[in-house]
Amino acid sequence: MMKTIFPGQTIGIIGGGQLGRMMALAAKEAGFKIAVLEPTMDSPCGQVADIRIVAPYNDETALEELAEVSDVITFEFENIDYDGLKRLTEIAYVPQGAELIKITQDRIQEKITISQSDCPIANYIACQNFNELVQNIEKVGYPCIVKTARGGYDGKGQQTIYSADDLELASPLFEHSACVAEAFVPFTKEISVIVQRNVQGETYCLPIGENIHVNHILHETIVPARINNKTAKLAVEAAEKIADYLQLIGTLAVEMFVLEDGTIVINELAPRPHNSGHYSIEACNISQFHQHIRAICGWPLRKPKLWSPSVMVNILGQHVMPVTNSLSKYPDWSIHLYGKQQAKKNRKMGHVTIMTDDLDHTIKEINDSAIWAE
Ligand code: AMP
Repeated sequence: MMKTIFPGQTIGIIGGGQLGRMMALAAKEAGFKIAVLEPTMDSPCGQVADIRIVAPYNDETALEELAEVSDVITFEFENIDYDGLKRLTEIAYVPQGAELIKITQDRIQEKITISQSDCPIANYIACQNFNELVQNIEKVGYPCIVKTARGGYDGKGQQTIYSADDLELASPLFEHSACVAEAFVPFTKEISVIVQRNVQGETYCLPIGENIHVNHILHETIVPARINNKTAKLAVEAAEKIADYLQLIGTLAVEMFVLEDGTIVINELAPRPHNSGHYSIEACNISQFHQHIRAICGWPLRKPKLWSPSVMVNILGQHVMPVTNSLSKYPDWSIHLYGKQQAKKNRKMGHVTIMTDDLDHTIKEINDSAIWAE
């Protein structure tokens, strides 16, 4: 079933975080109404929504209520209840379906899927328990990274293992779920490709972002990524292959490692708009959020174009005051704050996008800035 959703109709969003908020803001520009399902009252998306349903994500009555008020339903994060979403696909229009969520909620399924779509991943083993890890670790060797199959994010639920002496450190991870152990990839850069596809099968990738992490959290995205044409081609081809294999509808962020020889290895997938695509709000002729709304509403997609090289820098809790105090110094920075009340350390509170004619200078300016010193 394929539908076109028109302005005036209601888009339901599961999840009330900043990604939902930026989706909602994009949709409202074209006159859509927004309903959001989210457990807390004053969420970033709730603040800009027309209808708020405040309940846990797996609350059946709440999901039915969302289905009732929405003409199309999307989601802004992947750890929603699969069974709840599956039920929702039966009573509401959810063009993205539920299967991609099931795959990306489980690193083992995700790796199988990436391999099946004929894209490169790091050598890995899947282990149901610690004993299986000990028995099979030689197949990946050292150093390696043990990651919980379910529920990890921003480097949580991961343990780097340098030798057999460290293995015991991975034991607590199995209290959460099965794990994968993957070979350490000696990457020179991390990049991401955001690929978007509509119900008609039109597919576009946003310009490739180069991602710099600090303490496992995305710190900045540099666009265009400083990679050669061959690597860029490999990256786009891989993202499109996966999107095609999955018959994607909506948005998929594909995180990749770039190796010394310019080839790529896929790290992981996120079935939604991604932090590394926020730059597109100002720096492209179509933002990842506008394109996502177009994709799920059955509208034609626009071919993305980068207006200017750009750097996106995250504002974590500890950066809010320094950024606010520096506002008057940087009229060219586009400041986004997500409306979160508590500026906790390392919590994503907002971001800035800086469009620049001199990428190297801007990167240096950010590196030297006291704002991001902590
Ligand atoms: P993830 O949660 O899988 O995105 O991992 C978080 C970060 O850990 C990545 O962005 C990398 O910087 C690092 N990392 C993850 N897996 C590997 C790997 N196999 N080899 C080297 N670094 C990795």
